[in-house]
Amino acid sequence: MITLSKTDYILFRECPKNVWYKIHKPDIYFQSELSDFEKHLIGTGNEVELVARQTFPDGVLIDSRDEAAQKLTKEYIAKKQPVLFQPVFLKDNFLAAVDVLKFNPETGSYDIYEIKASNEIDRKRHFYDLAFQVNLLRKCGVKVGMINLMHLDSDYVRSGKLDIFRLFKSDDVTKEINDLCEEVALEMDKALAYLSQETEPIGSCCCVYKGRSNHCSTFNHSNPHVPEYSVHDITRIGLSKKKLAALVDIGSFHMHQVPEDMELSDAQRNQISAHVSDTVIINKGKITEELEQLVYPVHFIDYETFPSAIPMFDGFSPYQQIPFQYSLFVLESPNSKPNRRF
Ligand code: SF4
Repeated sequence: MITLSKTDYILFRECPKNVWYKIHKPDIYFQSELSDFEKHLIGTGNEVELVARQTFPDGVLIDSRDEAAQKLTKEYIAKKQPVLFQPVFLKDNFLAAVDVLKFNPETGSYDIYEIKASNEIDRKRHFYDLAFQVNLLRKCGVKVGMINLMHLDSDYVRSGKLDIFRLFKSDDVTKEINDLCEEVALEMDKALAYLSQETEPIGSCCCVYKGRSNHCSTFNHSNPHVPEYSVHDITRIGLSKKKLAALVDIGSFHMHQVPEDMELSDAQRNQISAHVSDTVIINKGKITEELEQLVYPVHFIDYETFPSAIPMFDGFSPYQQIPFQYSLFVLESPNSKPNRRF
């Protein structure tokens, strides 16, 4: 039987089959590298957690997940260590580390703080994530007190030195999580049984009815009959669920198999025609019409921004877009050359 981590349980809730590949066929699951965006998200999560920890003075960090770390966690819990960062628990094949455990001497229980690098609570992910931890802690004999979700406060505006106590907001979600624990316990058992099966789940997967942006890295493996460039790539087809379902149900996966009388938007029909006929479609009349409406001088402005979870400058809030670069070109008349102004 496998060991089910909290992370894999959350992924299981999104797609069981996908996690099965992650555990049993990592060569397929990890065939594509993490995108820069995904790496940035991970980096942001780590950065926010490090700052959040500063609001818990004298916390002790347990920085691995191995047996030694599990043993160390037990020892600290037994001696009621006031604050623990990343204590790690393993019981009945379930594994999780908790962001922050804080001992409450008045109740004799440990309060949980789950740190999220977001401005809002995401009930679907965050609540199930916490309920998994609570169930596991209880299995391990830890008395759980308050359950808190600590996240960035979008109302905070930096002014001078970063005020870490105003940067974060802590929501008491004890009741919501306790109400959810029973459901999650059943789902944890189900996930463990499903993911422990040695045989590969067969058949195509439900993403065959979704647009390309929803497909995970294992889509091609589960759906070998779907070409690399398929009807899933038709622009905005993911938003037209009925159209995509109609094509999938009649086995039309190639662009040239899309029926001519199918109701499609102009953009969708143009994309299919261009692909099938292997020609570039340029509507010169429309382009001319559009250009003739321009009033000179014409300004071309381009700029870049980035959202920083931890506000870097005065006047900024968590995730507020920070502009950092721009350019401006001006075209005085249809026949002049663009002049760079900045
Ligand atoms: S393509 Fe979709 S349904 Fe298929 S394994 Fe990936 S996430 Fe799951």
